[in-house]
Amino acid sequence: MIKTPDMSAKESLPSLLDLPASRWREAMAQWIDAPYRADQVADWVFRKGVYDFAAMLNLPVEVRADLTQRCSVEPPSINRTFESSDGTQRHLMGLADGASVEAVTMPYEDRVTLCLSSQVGCRFACRFCQTGIMGLTRSLTTGEIIGQALRLRTELKAPDLPVNIVLMGQGEPLDNAEAVAQAITGLQDPVGPALSWRRITLSTVGVVSEIRRLAELGERRPRLAISLNATTDTVRSEIMPVNRKWPIAELLSAIRSLPWRARERVTFEYVLLAGVNDRREDAARLGELLRGLPAKVNLIPWNELPGLPYQRPSARTIEEFRLQVLRGGLDALVRYSRGTDIGAACGQLHAAVRRSGQERSDLEVPTSGA
Ligand code: SF4
Repeated sequence: MIKTPDMSAKESLPSLLDLPASRWREAMAQWIDAPYRADQVADWVFRKGVYDFAAMLNLPVEVRADLTQRCSVEPPSINRTFESSDGTQRHLMGLADGASVEAVTMPYEDRVTLCLSSQVGCRFACRFCQTGIMGLTRSLTTGEIIGQALRLRTELKAPDLPVNIVLMGQGEPLDNAEAVAQAITGLQDPVGPALSWRRITLSTVGVVSEIRRLAELGERRPRLAISLNATTDTVRSEIMPVNRKWPIAELLSAIRSLPWRARERVTFEYVLLAGVNDRREDAARLGELLRGLPAKVNLIPWNELPGLPYQRPSARTIEEFRLQVLRGGLDALVRYSRGTDIGAACGQLHAAVRRSGQERSDLEVPTSGA
């Protein structure tokens, strides 16, 4: 249930971005002289990229002043941007309480993909992830998640290209499931960004209880990517402690139980770590584990990161692994990194995945999509 923000809060102004835009009329009813004013505000925010009420020139001056006192539509700021030679941009986004998260802009010829964070830090402690080493500071609000997309969109070099959203930044989205679900709803709101579910992908390490609840989103459920990375519980529990709570069989059972839509496929992300999960038996087991699922596999050769003990497998091992997965009847592609000259400090699995450029095809949307 989405709650109306506490509009009596004095210290920090409540953010309208915490609500889907189609609920702004209700939220602002006491301060505006007509409901259509709320739609005008939404138009400034979502179509024109204006986040200062004072600059919303078709609102009466007194309404602008009143709104400025009572609420906010200000997204996170961009504190710093690193740009790769391939056009990928990594941004340090500043939040109202002084915390920061990373978000990434990945431009392509026909679209742009925005990778958003869902938490400051993360408590899941995946062994190959620098964010996991940080631990969890806090979860983001709905407005902070949607706000990253809004802020990045205002900086786009090609603002008319379709936008895809991937929740693969810092944090585990399903560890912040309620705010993330509301953000997914808000991103699809017709008065707001009006994105299709096909343009939104949520990547998870496998919080099984929340995967099951994703079905409650119905047609709003986003695409799903699963960070798998091992084919036995022994190895997966070693590199991903979440597996001790929800082992592989339970994770795959939850995925099988989701109501898959026609032609929809779930992506399995598999970071190849030399000597850890890159054997021929692993490749063969992957095919067995995923048999019958509408699945595709992204093989992501590890990029070495400071402070992490893993190595990238040889090119031959990577290719043999891919061929073995294909022989098992699965779609498998090797994804090499984008933005390596700027992204190394990021270090998390989700970051490795997004740098791999997987969204080029795996997060592709049919041309019939909205
Ligand atoms: S890979 Fe994702 S879930 Fe695992 S520690 Fe890093 S941010 Fe958290």
